[in-house]
This record gives sequence, C-alpha cells and structure tokens, in this order.
Amino acid sequence: MIPLFQERRQKLTQFKALRPRPKTSTASAPEGLYTRCPDCKQDYLSDQVAANYFVCPGCGYHMRLTAHGRLRLVADKGSIRELNAGLYTTENLDFPGYSEKLTALEASTGLKEAVITGVCTIEGHSTVIAVMDSRFMMGSMGSVVGEKVSRAIEYATRRRLPIIIFTASGGARMQEGIVSLMQMAKTGNALARHHQAGLLYISCLTHPTTGGVTASFASLGDIILAEPRALIGFAGPRVIEQTIRQTLPEGFQRSEFLLEHGFIDRIVERHEMRATLGRLLRLHSPSARKGFAYISHPVK
Ligand SMILES: [Zn+2]
Repeated sequence: MIPLFQERRQKLTQFKALRPRPKTSTASAPEGLYTRCPDCKQDYLSDQVAANYFVCPGCGYHMRLTAHGRLRLVADKGSIRELNAGLYTTENLDFPGYSEKLTALEASTGLKEAVITGVCTIEGHSTVIAVMDSRFMMGSMGSVVGEKVSRAIEYATRRRLPIIIFTASGGARMQEGIVSLMQMAKTGNALARHHQAGLLYISCLTHPTTGGVTASFASLGDIILAEPRALIGFAGPRVIEQTIRQTLPEGFQRSEFLLEHGFIDRIVERHEMRATLGRLLRLHSPSARKGFAYISHPVK
C-alpha cells in the first residue's frame, strides 16, 4: 500500500507544479511593505527589518545601509556636524552621460556625493567620521570622495581627534580616469600624517568594499573591523580565477575568511558596532593613555 500512496503523492506534486500559481498575498501588498532578504530570499515586514538595523531577522544577513542610517546607528543623537557638505563633482573629462548620472543620483538619494563626513560623539567620545553610501555610483571614489575623505582626515589631525571610516565601494570611479586613482595616494598621505601624529584610525569595512578603496584607506586602519559576510577584496573573484586559472577557496574575500587570514581584526555585528566603537575610543582616549603610561612606568 505504501508505495502506491507514494506514487500518487509524486503524481500530485507533478500536477501541482504544472498548474498556474495563485498570487500570494505579498504580490498584492503595497510596495515597500515587505523587504526581501538577498541571502535567504524570504520576505519580512519592512518595519521589522528597519527596526533590526536592516539585518535579516531570519538569517542575520547584513543588508546595505544608507550613510545617514549608519550615522544614526553609531553616533550619539544630535551630535553630528557635517564637514564639507557643499562639495560636489563637476565634469572634468567630458565622460558621456556622467553629469546626467550625477544629477539623477542627487535627486534620487538626496546625496551630493558617495561619502558623508563629519564630527560627532560616540558614547560621549569625540571623533571625526566618514561614511560611504553605495547607492551613489556604487560608492565609487572620484575626486570629491577622495577630497572629502582627505579633508576629514586632515581635520582630525589638526584637532587631534581619532577618525572612523565606514567603507562601501566598488572602487575607483572610471568616469574620472586617472584622477580617481590619484585619490588613493591623497587619502593615504593624509592618513600617514594622522598616524605620525599618534592618532587613532578605525576602518570599518562593510559590504562591498573593493578596488581602489580597499587598496588605499580601507586597509590602512590601526584597527580594522568588518561586518559579517561582507565582500572585501581588490579584484572580483571571477577576474582572479580567470587570471591565475585556479579555483578560489570557499568563502574567499568574505569577512570570515579575511579574519582567519589576519587581514582584519574583528567581525562586529551591526547592533554591536556602536558599543564596540565607543569602547575602542575610550581605550585610546588621551586620559586612558595617561593611565596606561602610569601602569607601564610605575613611580618608584
Ligand atoms: Zn535572510
């Protein structure tokens, strides 16, 4: 009897697959009510996802976050003062369609460029902060992104403040050619002077951080943190495989792989980021350093 039932069930399943599917309730739901997780492909109420800092309530996948959303998450309420908010990109190489793209993106995102820089406090500790936004041309680094990041670092050096940079970038901006590549040296130099002044730089890598940004300021942190499962690399895995003609190991270029291989210092879940940054800033604050000097050189 049992094989007969099994056979019937199998046939029913086959028939069901052939029938047109009835529309699910999500199809008729108002747009934006549900958010689909790119990892587990499940739909969740958008409000629920937003309340969970855009971390999937089911599988813990960290979805992309806007620069403003990120600032609200880590900075003390009302403490942010934006720096160089008026800087915007002007056409320099007559790249076809570039100006139109910039104008359209400014209208859709409300951002002037792919990075927001400013001064804020995190758990009461003053710091300079730069946050990239991947909605704006994949967070690519053109002359203005490089300039804003460099100016933020220089501001931190002058005021003897730490700097925290959240990266999310597809790399250098091809529409700006060689000018975009020059930003790597510029930001690197600014960070070298910040470092020489004995100040702290915390780099926070988010999904995805690639290309010229990985190859410059993203990798120069005194402390490098990353969000779980973030793609972090220079060239994409397919390009590498085609170049070296080898299959890449499982999980290559993901935060967990990079932590295991010593490229990053710690993976920090989004809801722990603020507390982690607050603790690191406290441990590296001038008063904490004085305490440490006393412990390392006790008075005889
Ligand atoms: Zn999920």
